[in-house]
Amino acid sequence: MPRTPSRTPNHGPHVLAVANQKGGVAKTTTVAALGAAFTEAGRRVLLVDLDAQACLTFSLGIDPEAVEVAVDDVLLGRASAPEAVLTTEDGMDLIPSTIELAGADAQLLARPAREFVLRSALEPIRDDYDIVLVDCSPSLGVLTLNALTAAGEVLIPLQCEMLSHRGVGQLLDTVADVRKILNPDLQVLGMLPTMFDGRTTHARAVLADLPERYGVPVLSPPIPKSVRFAEAPAVGRSILASARGSKGAAAYREVAAAVLAGWD
Ligand code: ADP
Ligand code: MG
Repeated sequence: MPRTPSRTPNHGPHVLAVANQKGGVAKTTTVAALGAAFTEAGRRVLLVDLDAQACLTFSLGIDPEAVEVAVDDVLLGRASAPEAVLTTEDGMDLIPSTIELAGADAQLLARPAREFVLRSALEPIRDDYDIVLVDCSPSLGVLTLNALTAAGEVLIPLQCEMLSHRGVGQLLDTVADVRKILNPDLQVLGMLPTMFDGRTTHARAVLADLPERYGVPVLSPPIPKSVRFAEAPAVGRSILASARGSKGAAAYREVAAAVLAGWD
């Protein structure tokens, strides 16, 4: 009997957790913009909103209050991941969040293997996407541990203006713990400097100091500070659509291209 030719092994999608327990560092903005950039580049992209604030869901034009099946239903086994998937105007798919996720957090804590719930939940759709981006909440709680356990890589947005990035050290410690116990394959894709204002010496000094200080890659280019970012969520589109030709959109496209080049 002829043997079935061996097929290219399927390693599943690149799963990227976008995490930083500090709020307001552009995690959500980065997930929406990179998701749109990867979509423009022809990749099949799924975004997962893992924040009870549902900013990602809202900013992509979906009213969290009108969502019927959300990420909390998936995590608590009330629905499967495919049942929760919506398609956004920007073209990428989204598993939305609602405020109900706040309660799911507490319920998850009582479960065995609670850190592996997202990883298992994404199994049924691993052949449907090339890239999965997970938008984390500003905490290192069980939901973020789920993201880091499901992910192959973590991306850490950070603001160049801040005097202290102490939280980043703590996050990298958490990544090291996750690698030891939950997900030995987890890698740090890099830090992404956001809200960068190259006119200030301080921002330039912070940027220059980053690689040495943390010993992890710093993605390039830094994302410039621009009021255009504040306008995007109001129209329910990512910056790539709301301000197509802006410097911010161009920077995210460049970062996305560099990430894709690294993966290919
Ligand atoms: P996080 O998800 O980390 O809390 P967000 O993505 O919600 O952060 O961003 C926080 C705020 O900063 C939002 O109002 C967003 O519009 C704004 N913002 C994001 N990126 C930039 C940027 N490059 N320049 C100026 N404002 C930005
Ligand atoms: Mg956010």
